[in-house]
Amino acid sequence: MNDTTKTYTPPCPLWRKCGGCQLQNLSYPEQLKYKEKLVTGLIGRYCHVEPITPMDDPTHYRYKVQAAFGADRSRRIISGVYQSATHRIVPVDSCLIENEAADAIIVTVRKLLSSFKLTAYDERTRTGFLRHVLVRRGCATGETMVCLVTATPVFPSKNNFVAALRKACPEITTIVQNINAADTSMVLGEREKVLYGPGFIEDRRCGLTFRISARSFYQVNPRQTENLYRAAVELAGLTGSERVIDAYCGTGTIGLIAAAGAGEVLGVELNRDAVRDAVANARRNGVTNARFLCADAGEYMTRAAAEGERADVVLLDPPRAGCTEAFLGALATLAPQRIVYVSCAPDTLARDLAYLTRRGYRAETARPFDMFPFTGHVETVCALSKNF
Ligand code: SAH
Repeated sequence: MNDTTKTYTPPCPLWRKCGGCQLQNLSYPEQLKYKEKLVTGLIGRYCHVEPITPMDDPTHYRYKVQAAFGADRSRRIISGVYQSATHRIVPVDSCLIENEAADAIIVTVRKLLSSFKLTAYDERTRTGFLRHVLVRRGCATGETMVCLVTATPVFPSKNNFVAALRKACPEITTIVQNINAADTSMVLGEREKVLYGPGFIEDRRCGLTFRISARSFYQVNPRQTENLYRAAVELAGLTGSERVIDAYCGTGTIGLIAAAGAGEVLGVELNRDAVRDAVANARRNGVTNARFLCADAGEYMTRAAAEGERADVVLLDPPRAGCTEAFLGALATLAPQRIVYVSCAPDTLARDLAYLTRRGYRAETARPFDMFPFTGHVETVCALSKNF
């Protein structure tokens, strides 16, 4: 790879139109430097920032791929991504950062739609059938889910379509129809029908097996996620007896990996499907010291603090917006010995570290991980300990 900015040509011809990869104009070593500097600039005043963990191969790392469906001017069905800040679809058949087999499945779905005379949804007129396709693959297992997001529950020629898709892509292990009739920019709706297979896939991370449903959060970059989770568990410094809270736990991944070294784990998560997956994942892996609760993390922590519950370690992995002040206030009142903050947005991490350090915590170290090469996103694990 070329590593001088001036002569560097972005590898993807669509990078400006698509807008998904903000750092395509930088070589990979420069992207890493940029992200390290970004994290150091935002949180360097609180703690030492370790060198970023790069990817050996920064391409085709996304094992969850989604495409929007629509029609072009000549009413041919197209699939791809929304042009940044618009709802205009940029046609994409293959992408530098997406799993290649997943991309190929989306192209196959598009071709089959036309042969079955099915239509793509039109956001303007609110007519038509297929809105999005989401493909999720287990990196370790090869299991593959296709989720067809449709505007209507009625699926003309459903059985024949499913049979044709499975024949064209035998790697598919489950097909789900998600119904999203709303006038919304959210991809997935509330209702789901399993059209083929179990309705979820399984994948392995850090020696455990995880079941993942269409609507559950699951890190998209399997190779780097192992490094991230191992760092989070290592920085938790568990000795076998701790009471651990895993806040924003998703399908229970971090908490279940940590459970082997802890006394007990309580996972808290808002998404009902993810909690269901987490409970099944505990059972699937024979983990008997982990429980999961479907609740708003801030509300749970407030209640736990008010009831004087004990927590030795709190692991937290919030969405980009970071934590609410209610969550952070209750966390400081619960006063665990250690906090491990997994962050996908260093700006909100910096804001939350400002709060926690004011409340007597000391940030010890931060480890950035390049989970999303070519994009501007960076993931950071930050360990804090009680200073009081
Ligand atoms: N730790 C998990 C998931 C992290 S993503 C993993 O590594 O896979 C963040 C998770 O927070 C998502 O599963 C999302 O559903 C959940 N979430 C978002 N807002 C929440 C809230 N207010 N309370 C609890 N969970 C929330």
